[in-house]
Parts: sequence; structure tokens; C-alpha cells
Amino acid sequence: MSNRKYDVIVLGGGLSGCGAALAAARNGAKTLLVERINALGGAPCTMGVNPFMSYKTRNPETGEIIPLSRGIFAELENNLREAGAMYYNAFNAEWMKIILNRMMLESGVELLFNSVAASAKREGNRVTSVTVSNKSGLVELEASYFIDCTGDADVAFLADFPYRLGRPGDQLCQPMTLCFQICNVDYEVFKESQKSIIPIWQAEHAKGYIKNPMTEIMVFNTPIPGVVQLNATRIVKKNPTDCWEVTQADIIAREQIVELYDFLRKFIPGFENCHIVASAPQTGVRESRMIDGEHILSAEELKDCIKFEDRIAAGNYDIDIHNPEGSGTSHYFFPQGQYYTIPYRSLIPKDAENLLVAGRCISTTHEAQASIRILPIVCTLGEAAGTAAAIACKNGCNVKDVDISTLQDTLTKAGAFIG
Ligand SMILES: Cc1cc2nc3c(=O)[nH]c(=O)nc-3n(C[C@H](O)[C@H](O)[C@H](O)COP(=O)(O)OP(=O)(O)OC[C@H]3O[C@@H](n4cnc5c(N)ncnc54)[C@H](O)[C@@H]3O)c2cc1C
Repeated sequence: MSNRKYDVIVLGGGLSGCGAALAAARNGAKTLLVERINALGGAPCTMGVNPFMSYKTRNPETGEIIPLSRGIFAELENNLREAGAMYYNAFNAEWMKIILNRMMLESGVELLFNSVAASAKREGNRVTSVTVSNKSGLVELEASYFIDCTGDADVAFLADFPYRLGRPGDQLCQPMTLCFQICNVDYEVFKESQKSIIPIWQAEHAKGYIKNPMTEIMVFNTPIPGVVQLNATRIVKKNPTDCWEVTQADIIAREQIVELYDFLRKFIPGFENCHIVASAPQTGVRESRMIDGEHILSAEELKDCIKFEDRIAAGNYDIDIHNPEGSGTSHYFFPQGQYYTIPYRSLIPKDAENLLVAGRCISTTHEAQASIRILPIVCTLGEAAGTAAAIACKNGCNVKDVDISTLQDTLTKAGAFIG
């Protein structure tokens, strides 16, 4: 049993968790950030995700570019740029780990790495402690407020708050993808033939030579010369919260890497002498548990670009649904200059008094999650949750009773954009 007691404990050190911990600490809360691996950043480190998806819109009348994710996300992006670790929207994830450590320590966030949230105690609608499993054994951690940024809503699940999985009816989630990197690519040569990659892949697919159901192969350049990133494996109809199904997904995905590597070397100019250099430590999960919150954000609300009274973040990334059953990806692109907002209520598990959730597992439908899940937006959701928890802590109130105008003013003063 740990004798440490915190105002706020954030579980999960992805960009939502980092936003949450920084905001909580900067607003005066004694804050602990707990992470399962030995580094911060989340999916860019654990699942090899890169680059930052688009988070800007252009005012069609004035031509002005409006960044919709600001605050802590903008600070992180600037720090990466200053370190020479950005290439357009792509970043060097190793530098992200270093920079995030420094940001945490400068803001007074205490860190606990290599620790997995394994159980939670609950009295009524309050979470009283979360027990983590690590090399010290089982360590029980107490706090006045908890923020679940595990991506999979692990804490809400362990504390028995209601959640949904995937789309209604069959509960299928978006496909999983094991991201990997290939080195020794002649990118200048590849650029010339880039357009031919999809038709050649599809032709091979049609001949039955390829098992991977992915039909659109995208190759992202990285800040490291000769190294490219592929988010091109696709594992469908596996439940990302079932340990046995995830193991099957891992095995299938690794064979798909071999298939892609053979294809690139054989058919695509610039890849003749390439090597597989790294695959992500974890097969990437786009979607899994989503809490049932005080508000369930829907795609219709996104498409109508509703400006909620309790809005705490904004976005306009397309509703990008990779087919949970096989090939193809559907899109809904927002018109230039338009954006939606995300209500604070979608961060509160139904009836919870001292638990908030941020990141890809907030309370949305399957379709809405396909837009709000990108790295820039989850960071802003974390910043909102951390700020709200610190305000609740100051006032000794339930998360539901946080004064919305105080929350919005505090976020705006810290540089956030809430629409
Ligand atoms: C294949 C793939 C490609 C993607 N491509 C892009 C892209 O190009 N651009 C983009 O912007 N977004 C992309 N995304 C979406 C984006 O990466 C995620 O939606 C986003 O990272 C979610 O952030 P998060 O903080 O909610 O969760 P995560 O980034 O997953 O962070 C969760 C953190 O919590 C930790 N954790 C998990 N469980 C526990 C536990 N029980 N105890 C303690 N710690 C725990 C994890 O180790 C991790 O560090 C992609 C996602 C996938 C899977």
C-alpha cells in the first residue's frame, strides 16, 4: 500500500494523459501521471503512429488558417519543431518522449512508469483508489480525482462504469493496424512513382496474391532520411479488449508486414534495397471501449458543427471510418472554415463524481469517434479534463458541478481554442 496521496492521478501517458497531467499540475493540483511503458506519448510510441493528422481549417472568405487544436498541443509541436524533430506534420517519436518528460518535470508532474492500472476501488459513484501492477508488486494509489487516459477506458471499466464497444449491433470496432517502418528507401525515386502504388497493389490483390484487406497503401515520409512509415496492415473483426483475439491479431499483422515488404521491394521503385527496421511494440487500436457519458457525442452533432454551451475543444478532422469488416474506408469531410465542438459532458462517465475520461475513449458514437480520435484533438481533450479536475479539486466539488464558464475561461487563458 502506498502512503502517497494525490489531488489528481492521470492513468495513461498518451497525448490525452500528457495534456491532462500538465493542465492539472499547472492549475495547482498535486498530480501523478502513471504510464504502462517507460515513456510518454502514447500511440506514437506504443503503436508507431505518425504524423499529426490535420487540425487546421481555412476561412474561405479571408483565407486565414485557423488551428483548432492549440494550448498544450501547440506547445508540444513548437518544442518538437525547435528540436528539429518535425517534418511537415510528421515527428520524431524519440524526441517526443524526451520533450514530454521535460515538460512534465518543469510543470511539477510526478511520473510513475512501467505500471499498469489493474483494479479500481469504488465507493458509491466515487473512485477511491486505483491499484497498479509493476515490479514492486501491486501498488494502491489514492487521489481525490482520477482521469482515465488509457485509450481503452481501462479505469472506467475496472471501476464498473458503463461503456460501449464498437458499432451498434455487432460491436465491431475499426480495424487494428500494426504500424512499421522501412529504412534505406530512396524517397526521391519513390516520389516519382508514388501514384502507381495503389493501382499496382490493387492489381496484385485482384490476382489473389495478397491477403491484407487494405486497399489504399499510404507511405508517410519521416524526419529520418531514408525511413518511411507504413500504417498499412489491417486486422478486422478482432476485439481489441480480448487478450486472446489481440494475440491472434498480432500474429496476422506480422505476416502482413512480410507481405507488404515483399510487395514494395518487388514492385515499387525506390524500395529495391529497403529493410524492415522496426514494428510498433503494440498492434494499433483505433477504437475500443467508449464510456457511456453524461452526453454521447454523435456524428450528426459533428456534421451540424454544434457549438455546445459546455464546449471544451474543437475539431474538423474527417469522419474517417476504416471498414470494420474488410476493405475500404469511408470519409465525411467538413467544409473549409467549419468545425465542431466537443462538450465537457462527454468526458464524464455517467454518474461519476470524481472520474473524468479523456482521449479516444470519451463518450461518443462509433462514427463520431472516427473524427475526434486524432492526436491533436485528444491532447486538447486531456487539457480540458486536467483543468476541470484541478478546478473541482480547488472547490471540493464533483466533476459534474465544475463551473463551465470558469473551465472555459481557464482553458482560453492557457491558449486553448474552444470555438
Ligand atoms: C494504426 C493507427 C493509425 C493512426 N494514425 C493516426 C495519425 O496518422 N495521426 C493522428 O493524429 N492520429 C492517428 N491515430 C489515432 C491516434 O493515434 C489515437 O487515437 C490517439 O493516440 C489516442 O490517444 P489517447 O491518449 O486516447 O490514447 P493512447 O495514445 O493510446 O495513449 C494511451 C496510453 O495509456 C497507456 N495505458 C494503456 N492502458 C494502461 C493501463 N491500464 N495502465 C497504465 N497505462 C495504460 C498506454 O501505454 C499509452 O501510453 C491512429 C491510430 C492508430 C491505431
